[in-house]
Amino acid sequence: MLEKSLSWIRPVIKKIHAYQVADASGLIKLDAMENPYQLSDDLKAQLQVKLSEADLNRYPDPSAMSLRKKLSQVMKVPKEKSIVLGNGSDELIQMLAMAVANRDKDVCLMSFDPGFVMYKMIADFSGVEYVGVSLREDFSLDMEKIRVAIQQKQPAIIFIAYPNNPSANCYNKNDIEEIISIAPGMVVLDEAYHPFAQDSYIDRLTDFDNLLVMRTVSKMGLAGLRLGLLCGHPDIIKEIDKIRLPYNINVLTQVAAEFVLDNIGELDQQAQTIRNEREKLLTTMQGISNLEVFPSQANFILFRVLDKNANNIFDAIKQKGVLIKNMKSDAGLLNNCLRVTVGAPDENLAFVNALESALNN
Ligand code: PMP
Repeated sequence: MLEKSLSWIRPVIKKIHAYQVADASGLIKLDAMENPYQLSDDLKAQLQVKLSEADLNRYPDPSAMSLRKKLSQVMKVPKEKSIVLGNGSDELIQMLAMAVANRDKDVCLMSFDPGFVMYKMIADFSGVEYVGVSLREDFSLDMEKIRVAIQQKQPAIIFIAYPNNPSANCYNKNDIEEIISIAPGMVVLDEAYHPFAQDSYIDRLTDFDNLLVMRTVSKMGLAGLRLGLLCGHPDIIKEIDKIRLPYNINVLTQVAAEFVLDNIGELDQQAQTIRNEREKLLTTMQGISNLEVFPSQANFILFRVLDKNANNIFDAIKQKGVLIKNMKSDAGLLNNCLRVTVGAPDENLAFVNALESALNN
């Protein structure tokens, strides 16, 4: 009977390796681009009161109207554009894929490799093709390849992570504009790392009807809330919103996010601290021999181990109590690469010490 049940699962799903979340118990967690800082005690106390007053017995406002208004203001979404919320931006990517997946037609989602793994995974879940156009060796956009791929594949949606994960760079703006102009469908600028890049396409929404900008509160310090937003032309957002499950943003998330957005100065301050720490960490890492350290406009740093095996270095760093991300690639652009999230000063120091000791052994 079990065999019969499993025979219905699509082969593409069976082939997928479930998204791996490493066990970080007892370790300094520098693997998932989280903000290392908590809210201040004062804000926590006020938030506690707000949360205790929330109507847990009621379904949430299905459209999270008040939260959407606040997000629009804080993120400076142009007035004539609409927004739809997701349970994290992952859910928005899923809604977009579901909106275009079509049983009667070949549909493709396009992005750039190496890139954010969920674009491909969600394409697979949704039964649409994923095309990942290779970046150049310095992780810039390869416009010659991209022009050909767009022409041949006619992607329904092109995802551009800005800055990109895992390479941490922002792409050339002229290249992005060309992609938006020649795309046969929607272009999603995924600005998950906006607090650290401080550069955005939100004000360009008024220039391009096919442009959508996606943001998340995860990296700015609220990863536990699971809240992302997609902004763009009201006619497109209206269609995406039909796919959203009615109560996807729970009561506690709505209350907590609104409260923190009213006090956004505190998170802005934390982002500033993280940007300063990133610069310090970059300088320190660039001074370590046998590493190739890539520039970063995000809250993480990609680096290549030159003379040793990155798997061994990753393990040795973990042995010393620090969890980073192993890109697990022995070939291609991420060959022998590791990725570290910028943490608090003491965490970054522990990482650098662990890295140096791993490299010297
Ligand atoms: N986009 C990019 C580029 C990311 O790196 C991530 C998370 N690692 C996400 C989107 C998803 O963010 P979330 O679902 O937490 O909003």
